[in-house]
Amino acid sequence: MKRKILLGLLLLFLIYCGWFIYQSLAFHTFKQENIQTYPDEIKGVYHLHSTLSDGHKPPEKIVRIAADNDLDFIILTDHGNPNFESIATRGWRHGVLMLAGSELSVNRGHLVGIGFDTPEYKFSQNAEESASQIARLNGISIIAHPYSRVSWTWGDLFIYSGIEIMNASSSVRRDFASLIPYLPAYIIRPDLFLIRMLDSPSKNLKKWDKLNRKHTVYAYFSADSHFYYGPMFRLFRIHILIKAPLPKEFDAARNIVYEALKKGSFYNAIDSAAEAEGFRFFGISGENKIDMGQSSRFDPSITLHVQAPFPFKKVIHLIRNGEIVSESEQDYLFFRVKSPGVYRIEVFLKGRTPLKKEIPWIVSNPIFLR
Ligand SMILES: [Zn+2]
Ligand SMILES: [Zn+2]
Repeated sequence: MKRKILLGLLLLFLIYCGWFIYQSLAFHTFKQENIQTYPDEIKGVYHLHSTLSDGHKPPEKIVRIAADNDLDFIILTDHGNPNFESIATRGWRHGVLMLAGSELSVNRGHLVGIGFDTPEYKFSQNAEESASQIARLNGISIIAHPYSRVSWTWGDLFIYSGIEIMNASSSVRRDFASLIPYLPAYIIRPDLFLIRMLDSPSKNLKKWDKLNRKHTVYAYFSADSHFYYGPMFRLFRIHILIKAPLPKEFDAARNIVYEALKKGSFYNAIDSAAEAEGFRFFGISGENKIDMGQSSRFDPSITLHVQAPFPFKKVIHLIRNGEIVSESEQDYLFFRVKSPGVYRIEVFLKGRTPLKKEIPWIVSNPIFLR
């Protein structure tokens, strides 16, 4: 009897090992053949903690890991109202533009402030007050992980510039049980582990679409890394569109990145699932181009364009006020608008990908046709 149980357990273990080895070997990041370099696009990671708050590595080590992972910029967001010591570490390091804001604890939850001129005072603990202080100092305020353990209470006044629609750190905490079969991947295939741990952002996306009916809010994929920086740097990336390569002078480069974030001129992608460089979403109105993030007056002659020149299977969804209005499995999507609305793009991977099917690979910022 005992022998049978042992044999049964051994069999189960072998089946598990076979399954795991298959999963690990089958996983690879979808690559672009001869990936082009796009001089008008830079990539980086937003929302990171260092030893200057509750992270496990000092800023100097973190930025070195960012350089090893070919990032153009990172945005440290140590806890504090603000964290002056963390902000002081910013600069060009190892070819990476290291920016620093802070994650504020306020009465409604966690609010990330970035791009602000260093204040001579501490920010308020009141959410709306601190967001206005950040705005007065030319900064950006982003609602962090609105539905995680530290959730956000919304209130009537919405004056924030951005919202996190995915947060890697809260994904792990929420659904740890389903990750247990993937635990060995934590060491052997960290990128696979992180992709499997992601859960559907549908609640955040719904809220974001609702907010955008009245406001202009931009979406962020947030690493919220406290450790495990390398794999996190390959997971969620913010792709910013810029007019020219970043200058060597720190303040000038910093301004370019923050000006682009303020205008919503960026998209989010899960780059460890597939390389996302080259995605574009824009509108054409007569002679004028409407960039992603911009608002324009509705006009039925406006056309929307998506470029997704990727040599692997994907499907592009064009979404208007939260509803899919057009889709394409080609490298291009063209759409003539029929009504005003908030238009944005989600791209999903198809074929053999470890990304769960409800998780978008790319999320663009909207074009607002009011
Ligand atoms: Zn937080
Ligand atoms: Zn955080």
